[in-house]
Parts: sequence; C-alpha cells; structure tokens
Amino acid sequence: MSRIDNRWFRHDSWARRHKKMIVGLLLVAILLFLTVFSYVHHEEITNTLKKIEGIGKEEKKEKEKPAPEKEEGEPEKPLVSPDQPMIALTFDDGPSIYTEAIVNRLEEYNARATFFVMGNRVQPNADLLRKMREIGCEIGNHSYSHPDLTKLTPEQVQAEIESTNQALAEVFGSGASLVRPTYGAVNDPVLQMPYPLVHWSVDTTDWQIRDGLAVIDNILGTVQDGDIVLLHDIYETTKDAMMALIPALQERGYQLVTVSELMEARGVTMQPGQKYYHARK
Ligand code: ZN
Repeated sequence: MSRIDNRWFRHDSWARRHKKMIVGLLLVAILLFLTVFSYVHHEEITNTLKKIEGIGKEEKKEKEKPAPEKEEGEPEKPLVSPDQPMIALTFDDGPSIYTEAIVNRLEEYNARATFFVMGNRVQPNADLLRKMREIGCEIGNHSYSHPDLTKLTPEQVQAEIESTNQALAEVFGSGASLVRPTYGAVNDPVLQMPYPLVHWSVDTTDWQIRDGLAVIDNILGTVQDGDIVLLHDIYETTKDAMMALIPALQERGYQLVTVSELMEARGVTMQPGQKYYHARK
C-alpha cells in the first residue's frame, strides 16, 4: 500500500469511527427530545384536564380527612356565615339529563343552589328533585311550559305558575315560594302573582356560548359577594363548567347558597310581586 493509500485509509477509518460517534450522539439527542416532548405534552394535557374537572381535587383530599370529634354541647355550625362572601347559583329550564351530575357535584362540596324548574319536567324527575331538597337545594318555579309570560292573559299566567306548583305539591306536599319569570320578562299580570320574582346579577350567557371554559371565565371574572348567577342545567357545557366552578368558587371564599339563604343572610325579606336581582352589600 502506498503512503497516499495509507493516509486515505487512516482518514477513512477515522471518519467511520467519527460517523459512529455522530450517529450515537444523534440517537441520544433524539431520545432526549422525545422524552422532554412527551413530558411537556403530558403536562399540557394534564393541566387542561385539571382546568375542566380537577380543580379542587387537593381540597377534596383535605375534606376526606375525618372531621375532628365534636365536643359535647358544642353548638351546630350555622349553614351560612352571614359575614362571609356568598353567591347564589341558579339553574333554569331543567331538570335535564345533565342535572344529576350538577346535584352530585354540589353534594360532594357541601354546596347548594336554586333550581327553577319547569312544571312539565317535575313528575319524570321526582326522585332527582327530592335529592335536591335533601342536600339543601331550593326549588323554584319557572312556569309549566316556558312561554313568554308577558304574551299571555292573566289567567294563562296564573295557570302556568300554579300548575307547576301543583306538580311540585304532588312530590313535596307544597309548591315553590319563588318564581323566575321566563326570559326575565315581566308585566302587570306577572307582577300580580303572589310570589317574589327572582332575576339575576350575573348572566353567564351559557345558553348562547355553549362553552364550558368561557362560562367559567365569565363567572370568575365578574362574580362578587351577593350575586345571583343565571345558568341553565340543560346544557352539557354548563354541567362541565360546574365540575370545576363549584370547587373554584369555594376556593375563592364564596359560600354557595340558595336564593332564600342569600336574602335571609343579608336581611332581605322577599315580598310578592317584587323583583330581586342580587343581595350585594
Ligand atoms: Zn328559562
């Protein structure tokens, strides 16, 4: 072999060794990239899931700790602390196939809400309505078949409201004491009904946007102590939002109470034919 061949041979052999090293380094780099990428990707998915469902999982663990033994003669803790912030979540138009999940979430967090139900949905959902009452929720009247009450005669208005209370009376022995007028629309015949009319101070527009995360943002971005929040338990997106919102609102210090509890805690006596929007301080 000539000197030149020898040199080339040596060079070639060095290059091949070098090539192996480069390939090795590349493989290590690719493996590192894949590991980091899958970790970051996994983190992203986990964070999104947490946002939708898992908020408050940590607190839940806290809650699962056994309660300290109650001292003999210690007074019962009141259901509502009047000086602490509170809001009333209200759900219209149900019950629907999504309502039970909301009720279960409320129960899980020892929270309450007010459900303004439609009369024609009472009988098929009697068990669920009983469960609402059992966990301290309030049931209100949202008409029998959801017409715009202001387009009806006074007799028709009365029939819409009273037939709903009759349906509730068949389940509970008495009707609802609060009415939420459909579309929030009132006129004289509606105002003359012998019930307080519950409106709202936070409109989530959940019926329009149908986006759980946007509903969450709407509420967390605007809600304040004493608000009444309008929601509809007939949308899956609203149900999804509640999974995160109920713990998230409690985490921010809000007690989740019924409309009647809110008003009572703020010293408001509700009167027939009066409209109520909130009980802010
Ligand atoms: Zn409605």
